[in-house]
Parts: sequence; C-alpha cells; structure tokens
Amino acid sequence: MQYRAPRGTNDILPADVWRWQALEEKFRGICRLAGLSEIRTPGFEETELFTRSIGEVTDIVSKEMYSFQDRSGRDLTLRPEGTAPIVRAWIENNLGAEGLPTKLFYITSIFRYERPQAGRYRQHHQFGVEVIGADDASVDAEMIALAARFLGSVGAAPWTLKINSIGVPASRAVYVQALKESVAGVLGELCASCQARYEKNPLRMLDCKEPKCRELTNDVPDIAEYLDSESAAHFEKVREALTALGLDFEVDPRLVRGFDYYTKTVFEFQVEGLGAQNTVCGGGRYDGLVEELGGPATPAFGFGMGIERLLLTLEQRGATVGEPPRADVFVVRAGEGAQVEGLALAEELRKTGLTADTDYGNRSMKAQMKRAGKSGARLTLILGDDEIASRQVTARDMIAQQQWRLPLEGCAGMVKDYLETAESDQIRRG
Ligand code: ATP
Ligand code: MG
Repeated sequence: MQYRAPRGTNDILPADVWRWQALEEKFRGICRLAGLSEIRTPGFEETELFTRSIGEVTDIVSKEMYSFQDRSGRDLTLRPEGTAPIVRAWIENNLGAEGLPTKLFYITSIFRYERPQAGRYRQHHQFGVEVIGADDASVDAEMIALAARFLGSVGAAPWTLKINSIGVPASRAVYVQALKESVAGVLGELCASCQARYEKNPLRMLDCKEPKCRELTNDVPDIAEYLDSESAAHFEKVREALTALGLDFEVDPRLVRGFDYYTKTVFEFQVEGLGAQNTVCGGGRYDGLVEELGGPATPAFGFGMGIERLLLTLEQRGATVGEPPRADVFVVRAGEGAQVEGLALAEELRKTGLTADTDYGNRSMKAQMKRAGKSGARLTLILGDDEIASRQVTARDMIAQQQWRLPLEGCAGMVKDYLETAESDQIRRG
C-alpha cells in the first residue's frame, strides 16, 4: 500500500518551504507596520458558525465544507474561510474592550471541497486581515493599500485592482429585484448554475464565467444606481482615498463576492497567467456580520489572499522572495577519535550563530566530502587522526578552493570571523 496525500492537498517540501517562510515574514512585517496584531484560531469550529455567516446558499456552505461529527456528536467544520472564526473569537474574548478598532491579521490553512486544478486546492493557505470596529472609509483604503504594498514588495506586480460597492442589505434587495426582472426573459438560456442562482443567490449571476451568460446579462442594471446614499458616499470616499494613495483601480459594477456577509466595499486583486484562478486577493466590508454572530452591531473590513496563487504568480514573474537555506560550515569527522570532538566543534559553531552540519556513521572521507559539497557550506572543517593529535583543524574554503590549518581551541570564533570577512569581500567584489 502506497499512501498519497489526499486529493487536492500538497506537501510543502524543504526545497520550497523557505519561499513560504520568506512570504510569511514579509507579510507579518508589513502588518505590524500598520498596527495589526496576529491572531490564531482553531482549525475547526462549530458548523453553524459558517452556515450562519457565509450563507446557506453559497457554494462554500452548500457543497464545499469539510463537515463532520466528532465522537460526542458535535457538528464541526474545518475552517473554510478566515473571517467568521476571527469574529467569533473577537466576540468571545471581548477584544473590543481594549478599544476600537481591533486590527488583526492571520496566516492560516483553509479547507474547501473543490475540484482541484492549478491554483485551486482542497487545502490552501491564506494571508488575511480583519479590522473590526470602524466604518471609516480610510480603513477600506488602508487595507487595500496594505495588500498592494505587500504584493508589490514580493514581486507580484503588475495586477489589476477591481473595486465595487454592493450596498447594504436593504438597497441590495431592491437591486436584486431589478436584476431578476431584467434577466427573467432569458432565464431559460442561462447556464444551469445561473438558473439555480436566479432563485437562490441572484447577485452571483453577475460573476458567472460562462461567455454565453456574460453576453445575455450584458445589459443588466448597474448596482451603482441602486446604492443607498450612505453606501454611495462611503464608496466615493474609498475611491478618493485610493486615488490619494496613488493606487490605480477599476470600478467593476459586476464584482460581487462569494459570501453573504459583505456590505458596501468589495474588491479583488487579479493577475494574469493563472487562468480562471486569477484572483490572488479578495475582500471587503462586512458591517453586519459581528451582530449576525451575536456580538454588538460593529462594522468591519477584511481580506484574504491565497498564498499558493501568490507563489504561482511569483514563479511566472520570475520573482523570488528569500533564499534557500544553506550551511555555513560542514564538519567532516574522519576516524573514531574525531567523532566526539567533531560533534563538540559543530556545537561550538552553532553557539556563535553559524549553521553547522556534519555526517554520521564514520563514513569514508570521500563520502563525507561529497556531502559537504552538497550542503552548500562555504567552509568545510576536517577533523582526522592527524588533526586530533596536533589539536588542529583543517579548514577548506569550498569557493576559494584553499586549505589551511587552525588551532582547535577557539576555532569557532576564528571561523566566524573568517566567514564574515569572506562574505563582505564577496559583497565588495560583487
Ligand atoms: P475564487 O473565486 O477564485 O474561487 P473565492 O472568492 O472563493 O475565490 P475567497 O474565499 O475570497 O476566494 O478567498 C481569498 C483568496 O484565497 C482567493 O482570492 C484566492 O486567492 C484564494 N483561494 C480561494 N479558494 C482557493 C482554493 N480552493 N485554492 C487555492 N486558493 C484559493
Ligand atoms: Mg471560490
């Protein structure tokens, strides 16, 4: 029996994990600069939290959740999105008591039963932010700008930023009525999904990817004309602020998002080259969700960014963030006498902050040198019978191809100095 990772999931292997770590570090840094704190919530929640917040008729709730009963019959679901758990935690821990707004970010795994393809998986990962407790349009603009700055800093440019306002539930209801009336005549010609959406989730007809549906719904009324005055004023302020921050955007009246809880501003960052999976980041305002989940009426704003899609984009752009780790020093331990002394030497090196690796099982010098070469270490330190007898170490610079001897005593400090100088020489020489 050969076990495989479940369909739609990926191992993040050592050859790649450094890219993830570099992105995570960048994201953490950029969030901290904007006054956001990290939050981590459980991998699963009560199922009802998600059905209630995302909406019963959305794709996620109707067909994508990993739901199960635990051994005591509790209905639980693996996190299918990042926002509801954070709102739940915010209410439960009374985070608002520390002053509003609460500015949070997260880095997490997300589970959705979707058809796996490039950029679409059953377990994926997201960076996200949630700002809870401010209805100010500057929050919308600030968080969109944060996403843009992060995407730019890792090399994901160029992108298209699309924004829209979908108003508040009351204004949206009027719009949905007008939308339904305008497509009623062609309903029979729309795709099966859109026919279902017509009844259950009419707004989603707007972002159907089928060319036929696009064409048939080309002349539907514009949601902008149905916005309530408060949403319209808010949207105006968001656009002003984005312009002031120097961000290019397109107002896309057909942009709606997959969750029921959005109000007013919605936005997406789209990139080329990922086919239908071209949205790397999406989010918006959700002024009704906190109250819907049992908290005080509290406005909020957030986004989620797909890390796998971001990495695919960077790969296509030829951009790399971070660098693969390599050892500074490799300690070759040749012969019985060198085993323990070599181990101690590696420990001394690590205490100085150098990465040091070694080989095991007292293998041949040749085998150990081969491994030293593979490790990418700049310096190999060789300890053999000779060296032990003379209390010395043979050092070999793997780049300069030079070899010399050092006293074993105090060797770690000298190696550190040597590598620092070698490094700066290299930087000087370019
Ligand atoms: P899409 O329309 O592409 O399905 P979505 O609207 O379902 O995206 P969100 O729920 O807003 O996406 O999630 C935020 C981001 O997470 C998306 O913009 C995307 O980059 C990423 N994402 C969503 N679903 C997946 C998935 N199944 N696999 C990989 N990344 C995903
Ligand atoms: Mg989706």
